[in-house]
Amino acid sequence: MSAAPLLEHLRGLIRTNGPLTVERYMEIALWHPSRGYYATHTPVGADGDFITAPEISQVFGELIGLWLADMWQRAGTPDPVILCELGPGNGTLMADLLRATAVVPQFRRALRVHLIEASPALRTAQSRALAEAAPTWHDSLTTLPPGHLLLVANEFLDALPIQQFERRADGWHERRVGLDAGDALTFVCDPATTAEAMPDWPIGSVVERRPAAHTIARDLGERLTTQGGAALLIDYGYFPPAPGETLQAVSRHRRHDPLRDPGRADLTAHVDFADFAAAATAAGAQVWGPVTQAHFLKALGIDIRARRLTAGKSAQQQAQIESGCRRLLDETQMGTLFKVLALTGDAASPPAGFD
Ligand code: SAH
Repeated sequence: MSAAPLLEHLRGLIRTNGPLTVERYMEIALWHPSRGYYATHTPVGADGDFITAPEISQVFGELIGLWLADMWQRAGTPDPVILCELGPGNGTLMADLLRATAVVPQFRRALRVHLIEASPALRTAQSRALAEAAPTWHDSLTTLPPGHLLLVANEFLDALPIQQFERRADGWHERRVGLDAGDALTFVCDPATTAEAMPDWPIGSVVERRPAAHTIARDLGERLTTQGGAALLIDYGYFPPAPGETLQAVSRHRRHDPLRDPGRADLTAHVDFADFAAAATAAGAQVWGPVTQAHFLKALGIDIRARRLTAGKSAQQQAQIESGCRRLLDETQMGTLFKVLALTGDAASPPAGFD
């Protein structure tokens, strides 16, 4: 479907109510039920708009499966266990990690799979990929059944809407999306200064906030502290906190102007790991990392796992496996920009990959 109707819809909203916050703009561009990005596109995969670690190499999900089995053993092998994934995309990470847990059958039997997914089309894809695991879907963490929780999320937080604030001589102003003289979408500044507590960055700085990630960090922190468990969050982002605007649009594996063609490109922004960690800590959770994705995967033995996988394969398959792993680890690709954060309910020894 053409994205033009969504642009018309946004223009109408702006003409009636004034410029939209960046947060609201992202929500509509991504999630408008018939014309938003997720309603009209296949986001992940070679024939989608962007590619993610589980789609690059099965080794990624397999190592995470082993990490989870280790956390389960450290917790004293609870049964049952709620295994939850936030934003499972095509279901590839979950399928790979479940396959890897077959080496610990008691763990595999204890797992009850729950998925948090907002896109109806992706729920359908997940039900196909994960039929054997008989998952249950949810809109948010709040409806998960009680009990010991193991949670994973890869490239989920970056998809949650952000707010942007700009520091001017008279203070911080929220950035909004308005219309220019030619009726094109453009960034404007709220004339009033914001009532939010803001950091002391220099004039001209832009700072991003992500209220939805805060809510998740808090809910997760509270739940892990009271009911036990661990969470592993992998995403691209920054640590320590820094000013700077990171909103980006990607379509067919290429960067776009985030205000051009709303609904046609995926919109994401870097994750502020310090902010997420602080919200989880305030809720009582123990925070580990973030460490870089390269550090984490190497510590879990990606080299050995890749070697085992290449054994007996054709030269072409071997080259494919090796280039996939390089992409996950390489500093100029995903190795450093992507980071891994773990949360646990108690302050036991550091999880694998975080010592
Ligand atoms: N984890 C997958 C997909 C990443 S894309 C992978 O690594 O390949 C982001 C995923 O999060 C998609 O499944 C998207 O539909 C889902 N998502 C984004 N925002 C969401 C929200 N607010 N609630 C539930 N799911 C959401």
